[in-house]
Amino acid sequence: MKIAVIGGGPGGYVAAIKAAMMGADVTLIEKNKVGGTCLNVGCIPTKALLACSELLMGIKEAKNYGINIDGEVKADFAAIMDRKDKIVNQLIKGIEFLFDKKGVKLVNGLGRLLDKNKIEVFKEDGSKEIIEADKIILATGSVPIVPPIFPYDGEKVITSDEALNLCEIPKSMIIVGGGVIGCEFGQFFRTLGTEVTIVEMADQVLPFEDKDVAKQLQRAFKKDKIKLLTRNKIQSCEIKEGKVVANLESGKSVEADIMLVSVGRKPYLENLGIEKLGIKLERGKIVVNEKMETNIEGIYAIGDIVDSPFLAHVASKEGMIAVENALGKDKNINYTAIPRCVYTEPEVACVGLTEKQAQEKGIEYKVGQFEFRGLGKAQAIGKFQGFIKVLADKEGKVIGASIVGPHATDLLSELTLAVHLGLTVEQVGDVIHPHPTLSEGLMEALHDVDDKCIHSI
Ligand code: FAD
Repeated sequence: MKIAVIGGGPGGYVAAIKAAMMGADVTLIEKNKVGGTCLNVGCIPTKALLACSELLMGIKEAKNYGINIDGEVKADFAAIMDRKDKIVNQLIKGIEFLFDKKGVKLVNGLGRLLDKNKIEVFKEDGSKEIIEADKIILATGSVPIVPPIFPYDGEKVITSDEALNLCEIPKSMIIVGGGVIGCEFGQFFRTLGTEVTIVEMADQVLPFEDKDVAKQLQRAFKKDKIKLLTRNKIQSCEIKEGKVVANLESGKSVEADIMLVSVGRKPYLENLGIEKLGIKLERGKIVVNEKMETNIEGIYAIGDIVDSPFLAHVASKEGMIAVENALGKDKNINYTAIPRCVYTEPEVACVGLTEKQAQEKGIEYKVGQFEFRGLGKAQAIGKFQGFIKVLADKEGKVIGASIVGPHATDLLSELTLAVHLGLTVEQVGDVIHPHPTLSEGLMEALHDVDDKCIHSI
C-alpha cells in the first residue's frame, strides 16, 4: 500500500513513521524543514527559551536557598537564541534519522493534490515530481491569525514566528491575547527585562481554563510586574515614531517598542488543491469523521487543519488513527482526555472538564482540591504556590482536573489516564504514591473529593 503524507509536522511525520512501521510504502512531502510548527517555531523553541528564563528566575531566588551569587547575573540573548537553534536543529536531524531508519521517503517541496491518488510536488530548484499513492494524509498545519487592524510588518508588529528570532531583548512589548502563547512569551520576555503589557478581551488569562487557575497565574504575573489588561479590546493600532501604539476601546492607549499578536491560528490550506477535489470545509477547517477521513474516500486530514484543539499531541494521535484506518484497521479518535499545558512559572496543566464546562453540561460534580504548600516536597524544593483540583461526577469518576504549580505539566498524566479510562477517585487515590513527591498532591486532591484528605490545610 502506498501512502503519501503532505506536511511534516507532529501530525504528518508521526503518521509517516507509523505507516512505515505498519509496512506501507511511505512518502512524506514537506516544503520547509521537518518538524513543522511544533519543532521549528512552536512547542520546542518556546520551551527552550522558557528553560532559560526559568533558570534566570531560579538564580535570582538563590538567596532563599542559602546560596549567594556574587556579581551581576545577566542574560546573553544571542547565546539563549543560539542554544534554542541548536536544540531545534538537533531534533530535526533526529526526525530525518528516524525517516531513514524506518524507511520513510522525504520529498522536499510544495505538495498539491491533482486527484485522489496523485500529488504534484513543486521543488525549490523549479522541477516538479508526481507522487502516486493509494491513500493520502493531509497535515499542512496552521499559521498565525493577524486581524487587519494590526499593521503587521514582521518587525514592530510581529507574530510568534518572528518573536522566536528577535536579535535583541525589546525594552517594551504589548502582547495581544492572554492565551497560552501570549502568557509563555510574556513571562519569557519579562524575565529578561522587557516591560510587558498583555491585553486580553476576556476577564482572565487562559480564557477557557478554570478561573482559580487563571487567578493563580495572574498573581504570579503581578509579582513579575507583567501589566495585565483584561476585559480590554484594541480598537486601532499604529506605528508612530518607532513605537507601536494600541488604542483601547476604553479610551486608554498603550505604547511599546514591539507588539506581539497572539490571538490564535488558522489552518494553512493554500494551493493544496482541496477545492478541485471537492474536499468539504467548515469555517475554514477540513471536515473529517471519527476515522479522520474526509468526504473523499482515501483522503485523510489531521492536526491543525481539522476542528480539534491546536496541539502537537492531538495532531500526532490523529495521524496514528488516520494511518491505522488507511491500512485497514477500524479506529476512532477520542477527544475525552486531551492534556492542555502551559509552560509558565507556575506551570498550568488541565484535562477533561473545567467546573464551568461541567455546569454548562448540567453534570453533577464534586470537587477535591489540594494546595502544594501542604506537601513536604513542595516546601523542600521551595515551590509551593498553586494547587491541584480534581472534578468527579456523582459516581466518583474523574471527569476533569486542573493543576497550577511546580511540574504541573508532568504531574497531569496520572489524572489524564484517570479521565481517559473513566477511573474513580477511589481507584486512583488508593494507589500508593512515593514520599516525598509532588505526586502525593494528586492523591490528596483525589481523597479530598470525599473529604478524606489527610494533609488538608
Ligand atoms: P504543523 O506543525 O503546522 O506542520 C505542518 C507542516 O506542513 C509544516 O512543516 C509546513 O511547512 C508543511 N506544509 C504546509 N503546506 C504544505 C504543502 N502544500 N506541501 C508541503 N508541505 C506543506 N502545541 C503543543 O502541544 N504544546 C506546546 O507547547 C505548543 N506550543 C506552541 C507554541 C507556539 C509558539 C506555537 C505557534 C504553537 C504551539 N503549539 C503547541 C501548537 C503546535 O505547534 C501545533 O498544534 C502543531 O504543530 C500542529 O501540528 P500539525 O502537524 O498539524 O502542523
